[in-house]
Amino acid sequence: MATRVKGEDRQRIAFLTEEQEALREEVRRFVENECPQAEVRELDHKGEFPERQWQKLGRTGWLAAALPEEMGGAGCGVVEQAIVTEELSRASASLGIAYFSSNCFGINAVLWHGSEVIKQRYLPGLGDGTIRVAGSFTEPDGGSDLLALRSRATRTKGGWRLRGHKVYTTGAGHAQAAITVFRTSDPGAKRHEGLTEFIVPLDLPGIEIRRMATMGVHSIGTFEIYYNDVELPDDAVLGEPDHAWYNLVKTFNNERLLGAAWAVGNATRAIDEAVRFANEREAFGRTIGHFQAIQHTIAKGYAWLQAARLAVYNAALSQERGGDAVIESLIASYTGSEAGFSAAHAAMRVLGGQGYTEEESVERTLRDAHVAILGPSTNEMVLNILAERLGMPKSY
Ligand SMILES: Cc1cc2nc3c(=O)[nH]c(=O)nc-3n(C[C@H](O)[C@H](O)[C@H](O)COP(=O)(O)OP(=O)(O)OC[C@H]3O[C@@H](n4cnc5c(N)ncnc54)[C@H](O)[C@@H]3O)c2cc1C
Repeated sequence: MATRVKGEDRQRIAFLTEEQEALREEVRRFVENECPQAEVRELDHKGEFPERQWQKLGRTGWLAAALPEEMGGAGCGVVEQAIVTEELSRASASLGIAYFSSNCFGINAVLWHGSEVIKQRYLPGLGDGTIRVAGSFTEPDGGSDLLALRSRATRTKGGWRLRGHKVYTTGAGHAQAAITVFRTSDPGAKRHEGLTEFIVPLDLPGIEIRRMATMGVHSIGTFEIYYNDVELPDDAVLGEPDHAWYNLVKTFNNERLLGAAWAVGNATRAIDEAVRFANEREAFGRTIGHFQAIQHTIAKGYAWLQAARLAVYNAALSQERGGDAVIESLIASYTGSEAGFSAAHAAMRVLGGQGYTEEESVERTLRDAHVAILGPSTNEMVLNILAERLGMPKSY
């Protein structure tokens, strides 16, 4: 059970609607019933995907919510996606990633950039949860410098042949498809041209997926994908061949803000656990929650987290209103990941030695909190881009 502290509406955002807050409450009830922390910890320990929870999630209708009404959806927007991401991640960061990946790299990317064929092929399965999509962009030689990517797709009769290597693809081991980017031509100095985005079924001959051993997000897992002359039909292209960059930028901004909702949700679990522990654990004849050092540690973590939460929903609302929300998403990403990391770290200190054990969820939230600092862009790169947007020279 999530700990209910006084003032359960402490996550309330003044500019969200009653319906949106009601959705938050519904998702919260879902995770309270379906994601007991003992089970989430066990799955993390074993590195197993929360399949039971995912199946149930598929029956709630939230996976389909962002689909258009004629496809069984509710036409929900980015704000609702952020709310569901945040609340799922408050219970299980891995479940939260699975949800936001399938929205960001699945439903949103397909609705924004997919042909009719791709929409018909993927949207129904994304809506009922039988299809999960991973986002696979980073390469061994192209991380922060994404445009240094070396993977190549060449034209064949009626399609494409893919040869390359992607690393750190979250969830690829149990996703049905990945969206990915390959270099398809060499336009000279303009590195952002000559790129093509594909949506690739992950069971095709020539695809090899290997798990990477990582610090956190064990239930969703981190993977590398080898493309050994993979044959793809022409209709697997998202958007225009050779002109993927501006579509990718829109997807990355969506990923930044949903990733920030994820980071905030994950760290809210840590704050929940810190409050619970502070009210239970006794030292010097009182519960430790009586000590101001403990109170301030938790209150500061919560305050920064709530400030980041405002940035997340501001970015979501901005993107929903039609803009790319570049600056808003960068700010959400930076504040969400840093506030999330600090709050999870603060929570671990509140729990003392117990916070370092796998008997508690706090150590998991701290391990998982690192991911948002590294991706989708490292916070150094986020600040680089933000500084450029503020009018300073491009530094990278
Ligand atoms: C757990 C995890 C999950 C991930 N999931 C995915 C995924 O699902 N899909 C995907 O495509 N990628 C994923 N990534 C990859 C992530 O996006 C990259 O790690 C990130 O973009 C950084 O790339 P890099 O690791 O190659 O670091 P590098 O680019 O090698 O950077 C190393 C260091 O140098 C710094 N640096 C580099 N250039 C500059 C500069 N110009 N100015 C200042 N500092 C700089 C970086 O900030 C960093 O501190 C994931 C990574 C992790 C750790």
